[in-house]
Amino acid sequence: MSAEPQPDRLGALRDDVRSFVDEEVLPVEDVALRADHRDVLAGLMSEAKARGLWALGHPEELGGGGLPFLDYVDVCEIVGRSAPAYVALGTHSLQDVLMLKRHGTREQQERWLGPLVDGEVFTGMAMTEPEVAGSDPKTIRTTAHQDGDAWVINGHKWFTSWADRAAFVTVIAKSDPTADLHRQFSAFLVPTDTEGFEVTRLLSVMGEDETIHGELRFDGVRLSDAHLLGERGQGFAIAQHRLGPARIFDAMRWLGQAERAFELATATARRRYAHGTTLAEKGEIRHLIAESASQIYATRLIVLDAARAIDAGDDAHVRVSIAKFVGARMLNDVVDRAIQVHGAAGLSSDLPLERMYREARAARIIDGPDEVHRMVVARALIEDTAANAPW
Ligand SMILES: Cc1cc2nc3c(=O)[nH]c(=O)nc-3n(C[C@H](O)[C@H](O)[C@H](O)COP(=O)(O)OP(=O)(O)OC[C@H]3O[C@@H](n4cnc5c(N)ncnc54)[C@H](O)[C@@H]3O)c2cc1C
Repeated sequence: MSAEPQPDRLGALRDDVRSFVDEEVLPVEDVALRADHRDVLAGLMSEAKARGLWALGHPEELGGGGLPFLDYVDVCEIVGRSAPAYVALGTHSLQDVLMLKRHGTREQQERWLGPLVDGEVFTGMAMTEPEVAGSDPKTIRTTAHQDGDAWVINGHKWFTSWADRAAFVTVIAKSDPTADLHRQFSAFLVPTDTEGFEVTRLLSVMGEDETIHGELRFDGVRLSDAHLLGERGQGFAIAQHRLGPARIFDAMRWLGQAERAFELATATARRRYAHGTTLAEKGEIRHLIAESASQIYATRLIVLDAARAIDAGDDAHVRVSIAKFVGARMLNDVVDRAIQVHGAAGLSSDLPLERMYREARAARIIDGPDEVHRMVVARALIEDTAANAPW
């Protein structure tokens, strides 16, 4: 009896996502996230839904594709080929959906989960503040105190992504200043039409033509207890639960971006002729290509191993931190080398490389700068190498 060959479902799905990104997203990637082209983004979202590619990693019972975590990590590599694909395919809401599914009350879930999964509403995480170091959230100054039945929030945040269109933001505020340091902060869901909440400006950020990151003021924002997310004092734990898988999705998207830059570099090296040979025949260029290939390959193994550890329920924080800073460096290096291979053309906006270069720089800062992740890794391995080394 011969076993039927199993169709490679994941491979076929990755092919479909790649066709969608190449055919639909790449032609409009310069404008798709701009506020004056929201119709373009809406069109891409509809097309993704029509092709059965929308929200593939979201839980099935909420209307998503229900892909297991590791499978969706694989899909994220393709999503990363173009920045707007992240929204066009619904990936952008996944971390908040998982956070609400895990920590939200039934009422909070009924209000927000459906519209988030459908892409009808956007949301943001308001943690970073201008006055204190974002990489050390223990210094957060935004406060939440109880006044009768209500919570009252006062504070100042910035770099809250999607503040330009969010229906609500999750704010991390100091609610219990005398508690143990890690239990001093709570998370609140703040609808953006609440009195006292204001987006005071949108920040213009390197590499992004659109302005989606907001500076926010919370001026005596009054909320009922129904807006507390999870338990009081759980703010940091909730933020970490949201960030762990998100860092893996991000690193996979950076791989997709780097692979696209690599493909452009090798194609040009094969075609371009100088000093008697193609560029591809020159040792210096082969060196650049081999360096990029090795970084992509090594990063891919690291990220997938971190994803496997998360999936197995292991303590993955060392692996995730390594994946974060190795992935960010890899992306910056690979795009930089691809520009070098293209000469002046690489710097022109005729090619996507100059935009990819500007976009890549943020990877070394968002979700914790490289230095903080190196600190986390070094601290764990100095404390106990045998227990914490990922090899
Ligand atoms: C595009 C983008 C989107 C973002 N989206 C969001 C969002 O949606 N919500 C949100 O809350 N925040 C968001 N952020 C903010 C981001 O999380 C912070 O920028 C990041 O955590 C670093 O905080 P910081 O900018 O305050 O830098 P700081 O904490 O002030 O650090 C500045 C620099 O100091 C150095 N440094 C810090 N700590 C150490 C250390 N221990 N050892 C050595 N050097 C150190 C690093 O070089 C670091 O870059 C976003 C940022 C960007 C750029």
